[in-house]
This record gives sequence, structure tokens and C-alpha cells, in this order.
Amino acid sequence: MHSGFVSVIGRPNVGKSTLINSIIGKKVAITSNKPQTTRNIIQGIYNDDESQIVFVDTPGIHKPTSKLSKTLNNQAYYSIHDTDFIMFVVDSSGVGTGDEFVLGEIKKADKPVVLVINKIDLISKEELIKLVTDYSKLYDFSDIVPISALKKNNIKELVKVLKKYLPDEILYYGKNDITNKSIEFQIAEIVREKVFNATFDEVPHSITCVTDSIIRNNNAYNILVSIIIDRESLKKIILGSRGEKIKKIGTSARIEIEALLGKKVYLELFVKTVKKWREKEKYLTEYGFNEYKE
Ligand code: GDP
Ligand code: MG
Repeated sequence: MHSGFVSVIGRPNVGKSTLINSIIGKKVAITSNKPQTTRNIIQGIYNDDESQIVFVDTPGIHKPTSKLSKTLNNQAYYSIHDTDFIMFVVDSSGVGTGDEFVLGEIKKADKPVVLVINKIDLISKEELIKLVTDYSKLYDFSDIVPISALKKNNIKELVKVLKKYLPDEILYYGKNDITNKSIEFQIAEIVREKVFNATFDEVPHSITCVTDSIIRNNNAYNILVSIIIDRESLKKIILGSRGEKIKKIGTSARIEIEALLGKKVYLELFVKTVKKWREKEKYLTEYGFNEYKE
């Protein structure tokens, strides 16, 4: 039995959350085509007969613009220094200045770095060879693995490579655990993802979701979730005309929550305004955003 912790580091939107979900085979991290969807450190846990790999998903490292962003960046750096090795995820769009910035930070941690080149479904073999060459010039990576997280290409190969870097011989979590996050948190994340996906760019990152209650009632669950917004004007966008958008959000969230819990779910969503919550330390604490603040 070998186990260990790996930081999943990379620019926003390269596919880190999609990759963790593909490896684990279940959804533990929410994904979206908008950067900075991942707010908390999500630990996805991969288990098989001979190993346990704990993935520490992080928000992308970026220049902080608000208190929330600063907390996000702290989490990313925290993770680099606290895990056994690093999985540096890039997409197939080519080396960018952002990569060099992130690598600069990674170097300081002085531990094995596995380069994962994601989204290879979007490029040709020749382009991939060029990418590998370009990245090899930047850093002496311990391993380089091209994959497609979305199409699940080469994921098994990647897991095999990651197993080389597991230093410990104990189980940190149960053999059936796939995340260390509470069920309340996972439910809130599912709703947040559905809000993001239903609203395109109209709703920026000024929303969060909180599970207010889960009540078991015979063979079903009654679940209340609040969607927190920072200004009244977002309410109309989330509700949609005659409430059709929130209804859609509720239906798609309910289906996933039922899959998660294995029971029928009655889901109620509330939209609440908390002015400028992003800037308010108090709310950041309340919603668990500075768990890992240094
Ligand atoms: P993160 O910010 O790094 O966690 O990125 P996400 O996992 O949220 O993914 C960002 C976007 O890239 C989503 O729209 C994904 O569906 C998409 N994506 C992820 N992996 C792949 C892939 O292998 N191929 C393609 N074409 N798209 C992908
Ligand atoms: Mg993510």
C-alpha cells in the first residue's frame, strides 16, 4: 500500500477539476468554462488495491484583485509546500507567460513535478511533439504525460505515473472515500455549478451557495440551498423571466444531488443578497473560504 498527496497546479481553465473527476470516476470538483470556478481546496481521493492518491485541487494562481482572490492564492501556495509532489497541468494552447510565472513558484517548493498536457483532443500529433519540446526547455519535469481529461484519454497511464511518487505506507482516508468535503458542501457546489452554467457571463464570480438544511423524510431528502449574491440586480438574471431559469438550475442540480445521495430529493433554492460579500472578511470566514489562510 502506497499513499501520498499531490497538488494540482495550473492556470485557470486548463482542466484541473475535469481531470480530478476523470481520475476518480465521480464528480468531486465542479467544472465550468469560466476561470476561477474552484474556490475551496477540494481533495479528491483515488483508491485502488495498492494505492491511495489524495488530490489537492487549487484555484489557479493569478494576480489577486480582491480579498477573496487573495485567499484563493494563499490556498494555492499553501498546497505547493504541503504535499508530496506536484502535478502541473497545462492545456494544449502553447507555452504562455502565465506558465513561467507558475513554474517560478513551483521551483521554490523543490519536489517532483509531473507535467500533464491536457486537451490533446484539440491538437495534432505534430503539435503535441512541439509542445513537449517547448515545455521540456522550461523545466526538468520528472515526467510528462499528455492526456484528454474530457475524453478520458491516457488517464490510466497518468495514474500509473503518479503512483511512482507516493511516499507513504498508510491510508489517510477510508478505501471508499472520494472526497473529504461534507455532503452540505458538495450539494452547495453542485448548485453553484448549475448557476454558472445557466447564466453564462452575466453572473460573474460574485455568487456563492450554502446548504441551509438537509432534512430526511421517509425515503427522500428535503434540501434548502441559498444562492448568495452581492447585488440585487443579479436576482433577476438568476431567476429568469417567470422564474424559468431558477427552475432549470433546480432541476439539473436535483438530478445530480439525487445521484450523489441515492435517494429522491426535493430541492428548494433561495436567492439572497449579501452586499459586497466578497470584501467582507466575516462572510469569507462564514463560508469557509479562509480555511487555509496563512
Ligand atoms: P480548471 O479551472 O483548471 O479546474 O478547469 P475545468 O476543469 O473547470 O475545465 C475548464 C474547461 O475546459 C471546461 O469547459 C472543460 O469542459 C474543458 N476541458 C477540460 N478538459 C478538457 C479536455 O481534455 N479537452 C477539451 N476539449 N476540453 C476540456
Ligand atoms: Mg477547477
